[in-house]
Amino acid sequence: MEVVACSRCRRLFNYISGPKTCPNCLEAQEEEFQKVKKYIQENKGSTIGQVAEECDVSEKQIREWVRQERLEFAEGSNIGVNCEKCGQMIRSGRFCDKCKAAMTNSLNEVLESGKPKVEPKKKDPKDSPKMRFLS
Ligand SMILES: [Zn+2]
Ligand SMILES: [Zn+2]
Repeated sequence: MEVVACSRCRRLFNYISGPKTCPNCLEAQEEEFQKVKKYIQENKGSTIGQVAEECDVSEKQIREWVRQERLEFAEGSNIGVNCEKCGQMIRSGRFCDKCKAAMTNSLNEVLESGKPKVEPKKKDPKDSPKMRFLS
């Protein structure tokens, strides 16, 4: 365990794992998330700026939730994030359907190109010096 400063409130806390956010802020963040989610459900036509203002949450935080696919915007809504590849507006995740499909295709091409998979050679335990017993 180590003591670190919370990335939000700079208070020191006992850090175990995950994001460097103290328990207080994690709870506050979860509340914000629920508020934003509810607001988006009730105000489908609002922009990301409006949501940020109304819910008192940074736009950056909202975009982060969208990228994590925790938040998804309704069909035809004005808000979304840009595809990380082509910049097209998407409602959830990191890439648009087109880019996702293109990436899947190129992945399949690689897999189908018939390259033999390089498998790591299994080491014979006898060859490992660590396994030798002192006689
Ligand atoms: Zn904090
Ligand atoms: Zn795209």
